[in-house]
Amino acid sequence: MPELPEVEITRRHLAEVMEGHLIVEAHVNHVRTARHNGSPGEIEARLEGRRVERVERIGKFINAPLGDSQILVAHLGMSGRFAINDEIAPHTHFSARLDTGDMVLFVDPRTFGFIAVYDEDTVAASGLSRLGRDAWIDPPDSAELSLALVRRTAPIKALLLDQGLIAGLGNIYADEALHKARIHPLRPGASLTPAEIRKLLAAMANVLELAIDNGGTSLDDLAYLLPDGRAGENLERLKAYGRTDLPCLNCGTPIQRLVIRARSSHFCPTCQEPPRG
Ligand SMILES: [Zn+2]
Repeated sequence: MPELPEVEITRRHLAEVMEGHLIVEAHVNHVRTARHNGSPGEIEARLEGRRVERVERIGKFINAPLGDSQILVAHLGMSGRFAINDEIAPHTHFSARLDTGDMVLFVDPRTFGFIAVYDEDTVAASGLSRLGRDAWIDPPDSAELSLALVRRTAPIKALLLDQGLIAGLGNIYADEALHKARIHPLRPGASLTPAEIRKLLAAMANVLELAIDNGGTSLDDLAYLLPDGRAGENLERLKAYGRTDLPCLNCGTPIQRLVIRARSSHFCPTCQEPPRG
């Protein structure tokens, strides 16, 4: 599933071709892709003739103000990706032609992603308004995160996936940040010391920046590709995620896998000391 770095790379490519330009023609050809509006036709009608002011991102959502309080919102879901000026591949469920002639395509085999047009009222009622601070451009400081973790007994891994607490992390980068900060994924949120919280925030910034610099993580299924069709190159930089039984790059202990709230967690049992008691 694309996480913050993959969505940020996608945003940058979309911004380059879309910002300041008119959407001349839009097509949505799957009802699930349009599920946050009344119909595919409603999205098409609301997009055509609109100018994209900016292409922004909060957590894993791409949001593009269109003027007049209208906002184009996209989420890549499990397997969605944007392509620019590419051939129409199978599972292309959205396309937009701009006044420059550029074509923006949304390919989403599993249709967990979506394209929506919100106005100010509907955006307030959407998941977008319940997001916490963005993990990369607007992260909480250590005092703020400490306060948010008070009395939180849930495992820190689960809390990092809670988009209402911090927006943008998914399974890959939560595992990477915890490994780098040497914090066991099962530690209750409230048990983290101020020093550990500072380390965790620094680790989060570091793993996200590394991933963005490397074009994001394309796993073996190549569900995520950059909008120019290239694969992201961050996979080989991962130190915990997907490395079950491979030696920890810090200490050589085999990385272990554990299921926490139905999501697999990868950690080093030596570097990341298990919770006491
Ligand atoms: Zn280790």
